[in-house]
Amino acid sequence: MSPTQSPRPDSASGEAGAIIVAAGEGRRMQGIDKVAAPLLGKPLLAHTVAAFESCPAVDEIVVVVRPERVPWVEELAVACRWAKVRRIRAGGKRRQDSVEAGLRELTPHPWVVVHDGARPLVTPELIQQGLVAAQETGAAAAALPITDTVKRAGPDLLVEETVSRAGLWAIQTPQVFAYSLIWEAYQGAAEEVTDDASLVERQGGQVKLYPGAYDNIKVTTAQDLLWAELFLRRRSASGGGAGLMRVGIGYDVHALAPGRKLVLGGVDIPFPRGLAGHSDGDALAHAIVDALLGAAGLPDIGHYFPPEDPKYAGISSLVLLERTYREIKMGGWRIANIDATVVAQRPRLAHHVPQMKAALSRVLEVEPGCLGIKATTTEGLGFAGREEGIAAYAVALLVSEASSW
Ligand code: MG
Repeated sequence: MSPTQSPRPDSASGEAGAIIVAAGEGRRMQGIDKVAAPLLGKPLLAHTVAAFESCPAVDEIVVVVRPERVPWVEELAVACRWAKVRRIRAGGKRRQDSVEAGLRELTPHPWVVVHDGARPLVTPELIQQGLVAAQETGAAAAALPITDTVKRAGPDLLVEETVSRAGLWAIQTPQVFAYSLIWEAYQGAAEEVTDDASLVERQGGQVKLYPGAYDNIKVTTAQDLLWAELFLRRRSASGGGAGLMRVGIGYDVHALAPGRKLVLGGVDIPFPRGLAGHSDGDALAHAIVDALLGAAGLPDIGHYFPPEDPKYAGISSLVLLERTYREIKMGGWRIANIDATVVAQRPRLAHHVPQMKAALSRVLEVEPGCLGIKATTTEGLGFAGREEGIAAYAVALLVSEASSW
């Protein structure tokens, strides 16, 4: 990334408001309403808004749609838990009427980002890069150099000339503007334009182009939807969405102490000593908790269940495991499998394993077959061999779900 593309520190948060326009009629979509068209299990518009929701520089979003779509988008906003969408507005006849309607709803911000609702593959990075590019002249538009040969032809489809591609760019959104610049451009903008930068240009403003993305397509035909799906699938396969897999590791040790119950994998095991600890000392459950948290990229067990917190005194570690599972489930993850090894010289644990699997699989909502639990001794070596304590290792594999907006 070149220095001009990296976000400036002062564009860190809350400096931009966004207008997402999706009020077009979709005449080329063969009767499909493109904003509502399903794309990997959620409506196209939800993908577009999600990119703005997760862009730190944007703290307010106005969505402009066709009047009859407003109640549907309001429901979508609740279902998707959009936090930044301030208003859902009915748009006008022309694109620019819709943007103007959005502009009137937006709280004045230093910067305004305008984006086509029908470009669901926009990324927070592309928005951020627009904000950086706009610093130069107050206006920026994502663009790509034209690669096809361009010809001008008459209504009879006879070529009149081949246009030189030099200096020609295909313009996308996001387009980013200083608030006062776009506001003024919209005052008395009578002529129809196809993008917002054109209005600024007409006012004599300078618009800076910055690199758009080849997958930032505008969905205007039913075929485009297939492309968008393909691009989204490719993106998730390379790290970001449904089908993504993550592995985590956990390790825990507790000391054996007299007068304690021995609990491993949620099962009470008859033994003269048990594992010392603030909770029930279930080292196996703790290792699994850390493997799950680690796979999801979350902080460790001590962060969620601080040992100094009295409410966890003597608590069953299955409760901690259940809360952990709830946390990762909320993050859109499901457990593919877990494998664990308990290291203990004594007692022999093998015949308790089926019970442990039953207890753990109930809490984790997986088939017992997705859980591997083995026990080993250390041939008398080390702290485990001396029966001073019991250790447990666990790995967990998580798979991200199709987003459950
Ligand atoms: Mg522990």
